[in-house]
Amino acid sequence: MTADTHDVVIAGSGVAGLSAAVYAARADLDPLVLEGDEPGGQLTLTTDVENYLGFPEGVGGMELIQQGKEQAEQFGAQFRHGSIESADLDGQPKALTLSNGETIHTRALVVATGASARWVGADNEADLMGHGLSTCATCDGAFHRGDDVLVVGGGDSAMEEALFLAKFADSVTVVHRREELRASEIMADRARDHDDIDFRWNTELRSIHGSTEEGVTAATLISHPEGHPREKFESGTEVETERVDVGGVFYAVGHTPNTGFLRNTGVELDDDGYVLPQTDGDGRATARTTVDGVFAAGDVADPRYRQAITAAGTGSMAALDVEAFLETLEGSEPAPVEA
Ligand SMILES: Cc1cc2nc3c(=O)[nH]c(=O)nc-3n(C[C@H](O)[C@H](O)[C@H](O)COP(=O)(O)OP(=O)(O)OC[C@H]3O[C@@H](n4cnc5c(N)ncnc54)[C@H](O)[C@@H]3O)c2cc1C
Repeated sequence: MTADTHDVVIAGSGVAGLSAAVYAARADLDPLVLEGDEPGGQLTLTTDVENYLGFPEGVGGMELIQQGKEQAEQFGAQFRHGSIESADLDGQPKALTLSNGETIHTRALVVATGASARWVGADNEADLMGHGLSTCATCDGAFHRGDDVLVVGGGDSAMEEALFLAKFADSVTVVHRREELRASEIMADRARDHDDIDFRWNTELRSIHGSTEEGVTAATLISHPEGHPREKFESGTEVETERVDVGGVFYAVGHTPNTGFLRNTGVELDDDGYVLPQTDGDGRATARTTVDGVFAAGDVADPRYRQAITAAGTGSMAALDVEAFLETLEGSEPAPVEA
């Protein structure tokens, strides 16, 4: 290995990247973690995490991340700012070009770049995210016992979030900008048949009210009988405006996996851009991708579960797979890198 080629670079410092870093560092692989534009990832957006194993009193999202980083550093993982802009992943070594133009070489890459929940552009959403505004009902639903809550969206995940929230909340109102749901018939029927779930058709969220101390207290909705009220409002058409008291707002308008830099690299992505991890010869899950030496962990490969604990689990899988991969390279030194 040339002096400037890493054994393994881990892209992303969310739970998946941190877990991969702990395992890789303990295996003496000297991992380099690129933190991306959101060091610590999505968990830094939330206050309390109550479903991560080992914290009976719950743990702050930021605290969990800081402790994970400390743990990885203690075993020798290096962290640095930087986002991968593009990558040449053929053969050895692999070349990663960062957004500042610098190129890094590595024998193995763990992609743990997460998936960003889409936001709707309501006023105050950046201030209230994690303080009563959430993108994850499984994570934060239990904080809303007895509240009236809104779910924004009209697809299957919005129906799932609404049905889950109805276990805790007094009432759930699904806010959808059209008159028809995109959700499958079965999910739509389940939500429509639920006594505690209502629908506001042709309606969008304009503002969320509250504070970081009080959480969400109210929301302003806009409606137009022909749907897409925000577009209408922005083009000067009159819309109906209503302020409603609510204790929580949940966005369920989809996620975008952070995989732009993997386009045309040979790493197989699904139609929505999530990495498709490969199974082994026995059909069992691995963290391997379709490119040798490239592995994926966490939400970037998981449109279904999207939990901190599953991200940590797949992070450990990726590091173990990297270790096995590097052993197969032993004795086959990569070609020297030109300066
Ligand atoms: C508000 C909120 C509350 C939540 N609460 C809970 C909860 O209570 N319990 C729970 O289990 N889960 C919760 N989740 C879900 C949980 O946060 C995610 O499942 C978990 O963070 C996924 O981890 P990850 O490491 O895969 O990705 P992320 O946390 O998304 O981290 C991605 C990392 O990749 C980096 N990155 C992105 N692009 C690049 C690039 N091109 N190059 C290099 N780095 C890059 C980012 O900067 C970031 O560091 C919550 C999520 C949100 C948004």
